[in-house]
Amino acid sequence: MRKKNSQKDSSKSSGRNTGITPPSERNDLFDSLSEFPLGEPLDPNEMRITFFGTSCIPRLSQECNSIFVEVGSGDQFIFDCGSGVVAKYTAMGIPKSKMNKIFLTHLHGDHMSDLSHIYSFGPSEDRKFPLCIWGPGNTNWTYTDPDGKTRGPFEDGLRAFCEKFRELMRWHTESFSFGPTRYADPQNDLSHSQNPDCFEGCDSYLVGNETAYPDDPYDAYAIYAYELNYKSEGIAYKNYSTGVSISYFPVIHCRRGSIGYKLNWNGMSLVFSGDTKPNYTMLKRAEGADILIHEMVMPADVWTTKNTELQDGDVGWDQSFAYTQAVQNSSHTPQGALGYMLSQISSPPRLTIATHFQAADDTMASALQSIENKYNITEENNFTFASDLMVFNVSKTNILQRKAIVSAFAFNPPPTTLGVPTAAPIYWRYDDDGNVIYDPYAQIDTTDEIPRVNDDGSENWDETGY
Ligand SMILES: [Zn+2]
Ligand SMILES: [Zn+2]
Repeated sequence: MRKKNSQKDSSKSSGRNTGITPPSERNDLFDSLSEFPLGEPLDPNEMRITFFGTSCIPRLSQECNSIFVEVGSGDQFIFDCGSGVVAKYTAMGIPKSKMNKIFLTHLHGDHMSDLSHIYSFGPSEDRKFPLCIWGPGNTNWTYTDPDGKTRGPFEDGLRAFCEKFRELMRWHTESFSFGPTRYADPQNDLSHSQNPDCFEGCDSYLVGNETAYPDDPYDAYAIYAYELNYKSEGIAYKNYSTGVSISYFPVIHCRRGSIGYKLNWNGMSLVFSGDTKPNYTMLKRAEGADILIHEMVMPADVWTTKNTELQDGDVGWDQSFAYTQAVQNSSHTPQGALGYMLSQISSPPRLTIATHFQAADDTMASALQSIENKYNITEENNFTFASDLMVFNVSKTNILQRKAIVSAFAFNPPPTTLGVPTAAPIYWRYDDDGNVIYDPYAQIDTTDEIPRVNDDGSENWDETGY
């Protein structure tokens, strides 16, 4: 058995065994940051990185993984979108029209669960154009199970995921198609009328185009799946007008078919590991990078205790520890390993940000020690821990780390695409003057509806709502 980590476990110090983390748990690093002024314009020469999800366990301080990257030339991207992150995007005022390019590292639930909300409510808000999703293709992997049966190959790649997802969401998309979901002339919306190009190692599909009822290629419920050949390195995205290029590369995580991404813009670069074991490709990609966002996990014994409240010697410890260690060893980068990796890069990143890590004072102190045992953190080659609503402004000369304080009561941000004429909704009718208007009643049966006129005939709550 491994030596116990000396890290103090606050869940045990109170002597309770309730499974409830005390609300006194803190993240002093986050608290000490200066505040990001909400709505601050982005300098044309800067890149801004906002963390909306930074954990594999959903927790109020850290939902599951998602990073929003904006560049000063006016392009923006989501990298992964795990559960719980949409509320934070909304609170930061990010409209759905800017949440249309999603780069998935792999198809684990903690990296894509909130797609359902981003996709289904985008067209009700201001994304009146298709959703574009990048991610790895089929693994084509087969395996013989203990009963001698062959498992696979499965359709487990992005295209199959998006096709099944599109049908899974059918009830939602039909129900909301009484409102406009496309522009009258897609060319009117110049910034979105062209879907991104596909490059070597990438195949693009208009999802649902071969089914009985194909989607209009400009409809907001259409999905473009950009499937990437996860076995090789290649280009996922290139925009000649904004100058952004995003490449992808294979990583080692849990099952074949996980990738990381590298974004290059304005002479700067950002590497995002996704989930991975330490690997040599990452060292190569992180060489000379400005920002490295890398996953990290706490030692298996601490992780076991945090998640089960068991201690070494308790009934069930051996089983729980063995499982946690198997997860760590097959899928993730321990904190000591990240320090070692950084030490092996001859020109290390200006800033490394550890994510996918449950950041609190105790876990960060332990991890920092592991990192510093192997890697010399300096102002030029700095290191920090991500948690939700951290904002990083990156220029060639400066990296500014701040926190956003948002309202817990936010409504949707103002739409950015009002005023562009929209096409007739799919569920429509003529009004008395012969104009095509919404028909929200087209799909319902109202025979059991309580009449909308009050007893005295004076009220009509459909019109006033009071
Ligand atoms: Zn994960
Ligand atoms: Zn994963």
